[in-house]
Amino acid sequence: MIITKNPPFDDFCDLCIILSYTASMDKTQQTLVIIKPDGLVKSLTGNILTALSEAKLKIVGAKILKVPKKLAELHYEELKYKKPEVFPSAVKYLMGGFHTDRVLALVYEGANAVGNIRKICGATNPEEADPTTIRGRYGRINSKTGVFENVIHASESSKQAEKEIKLWFQPEELTETVFKTKKITKTGPRTIWA
Ligand code: ADP
Repeated sequence: MIITKNPPFDDFCDLCIILSYTASMDKTQQTLVIIKPDGLVKSLTGNILTALSEAKLKIVGAKILKVPKKLAELHYEELKYKKPEVFPSAVKYLMGGFHTDRVLALVYEGANAVGNIRKICGATNPEEADPTTIRGRYGRINSKTGVFENVIHASESSKQAEKEIKLWFQPEELTETVFKTKKITKTGPRTIWA
């Protein structure tokens, strides 16, 4: 039997494949980056931001903050099930229990932001991370606690990034409306400049 090709249909399919491949190759994403407390005490902020600038992304949010327990626990919510033995020390680490009680949180936006930033950060275990990555260069395993002190957090998927950005930032703290918002009327006391 001779199978004849139907050129217009095949061409159309090829075009769809190429278009969807191109779209997935160059997807605008947002990602959450946290320079962890050890990154701050080691004065690595400048070096880390320079390394991240290689990704050619836009910073759409940045703030320095003390991490409350609730925020640290929600941030590592999945770790509680994935690596329960690590969860308490990861929470303590993020809250500054081993270094200083502050972190620098940033939101980056641009093409393939999640993957590009994760690549620059390197593997979770600093001893296994490529030595040219941020974690490979500056991270260590604390010999007393066993914690991977890997100086930086970066979202591992775009779904996770959306959850994390919504956890760490309010819409008005970002320069772009990165996700759907709604208006509410604020009630109750709040602190303003006197
Ligand atoms: P990542 O930060 O690369 O997304 P995980 O979400 O698995 O990795 O872990 C969160 C954090 O918990 C890590 O960045 C690291 O500080 C710590 N951690 C993870 N796994 C271990 C481990 N096996 N031993 C010690 N610390 C760990």
